[in-house]
Amino acid sequence: MQKSHSLMIRGRIPGGRLTAEQYLKLDELAGLYGQGSLRLTTRQSIQYHGVLKSDSKELLKGIRDVVLSTIAACGDVVRNVTQALNPTKDPELALIDAIADRISSHFEPQSGAYAEVWLDGEPVEFEEKLEPIYGAQYLPRKFKIGVTIAGNNTLDLFTNDMGIAATLKNGTIDGYYFYAGGGLGKTHRNADTYPRLASPLGWVPEKALIAVSEAIITTQRDFGDRKDRKHARLKYLIEEQGVDWFRSEVERRSGYTFELREEPVWKNPEYLGWQEALDGTLSLGLHILAGRIKDFDGKPIRSAIREVVAQYRPDIQITADQDLILTGISKEHQEAIEAHFEGQGISLSPKGSLYHRALACPALPTCGLAITEAERFLPSVLDTLQKPLDELGLPAPSIRMTGCPNGCARPYSAEIGLVGRSLGMYALYLGGSIEGTRLASEITDSLKAEHLEEAGRMLFSAWKQERIHADEAFGDFAHRKGTQALQELLSPLLKA
Ligand code: SF4
Repeated sequence: MQKSHSLMIRGRIPGGRLTAEQYLKLDELAGLYGQGSLRLTTRQSIQYHGVLKSDSKELLKGIRDVVLSTIAACGDVVRNVTQALNPTKDPELALIDAIADRISSHFEPQSGAYAEVWLDGEPVEFEEKLEPIYGAQYLPRKFKIGVTIAGNNTLDLFTNDMGIAATLKNGTIDGYYFYAGGGLGKTHRNADTYPRLASPLGWVPEKALIAVSEAIITTQRDFGDRKDRKHARLKYLIEEQGVDWFRSEVERRSGYTFELREEPVWKNPEYLGWQEALDGTLSLGLHILAGRIKDFDGKPIRSAIREVVAQYRPDIQITADQDLILTGISKEHQEAIEAHFEGQGISLSPKGSLYHRALACPALPTCGLAITEAERFLPSVLDTLQKPLDELGLPAPSIRMTGCPNGCARPYSAEIGLVGRSLGMYALYLGGSIEGTRLASEITDSLKAEHLEEAGRMLFSAWKQERIHADEAFGDFAHRKGTQALQELLSPLLKA
């Protein structure tokens, strides 16, 4: 009898943009293969978990049927390109759709093996062709790219290996700010590994887009660490060689010189709930806890979304916060859609609780690298921490949780980050900013899960008493208070 292997399969969906038809096909495939769920990822993609190896070919073909693929969704290549959200159908923001698509296809691996192996294509030529950009060895590690309009940080731009922020003149893109060297993975108690936000390189004119992007990627290809995978991301090259060295190398390779302009002011606008778009239609931002679209007992989320998409045919964008935005909804359908969701136990309001700002990676039992629980434990963590927030009448900070220090749910850029350390124990990070422009600091690497509520009560009480004005966000307060003071505050728990 043969062993039954199961796989995780992830899509390549630039900017997380889907038509209704594509979404319905992805949903149909979730009903046929794997665990019956679609999981939205923090890179605006979808994953199928627990797919039997024997089903994988049919699933990949189904994805291909709606002009999507899984090419380079994993591996040491450019991964799914993320982009800013556009719930208001803003024509200026829509300009970056084409940029995300262009970058995504320009850096897609050229090998015909994918079609041959997975799609029953003709055999690839025997004579081996070198990848024009990746060469014989591909990149030292995965490479993440995000695209936005300067000032809009709805995608956590600075956590990418390369960030591209377009500037506009007379309604068209006239150039780009480039950022390089972001990345969040680390290894516990290994000071040579750390999360890092991307550094600004400067601004270049529109025509430099591909040349500069290629120069950044090939510099990492040629200089990145190929001996130690834990030290192989672009962030280590830039941190150790310096931003000036890196900028000069990119300029030399691309033939363009960066202009050092004043940095944009970054904002991270809210998208959950109903919003009126510029074309008079409505968008609906749906919070999906941990990105899991599944028919839960008493809460059939997957069916409810499918029925709305099938009937009203909205366009869809997956967000980098594991949520879904349905756009292009006619105002006359608002009431019916609301009734549809609420009739199935899916509340579209209220916003503002910890629940709505929370992210978690799958962790145990799905991810082979997980040390602790994340997605399955998240609801209980949210209930635990919401209690002191409610008692104190405080708004909810962003909270993100992962089952290991790889940081897939971006805990290091949250206001509160919990990173699995060992069974029932988490590293606690505090002080990231809502705008995504600052990393959180590690306060302890050994907070016991049983102390979470008390830790929350101590931290939130201090925030309430010491905030400099009523609107000071928790992350800003924690950053201002500083690591040492926060460690002292929590010391009774940390010694226990
Ligand atoms: Fe797995 Fe770690 Fe990523 Fe979570 S953060 S999905 S446990 S690798």
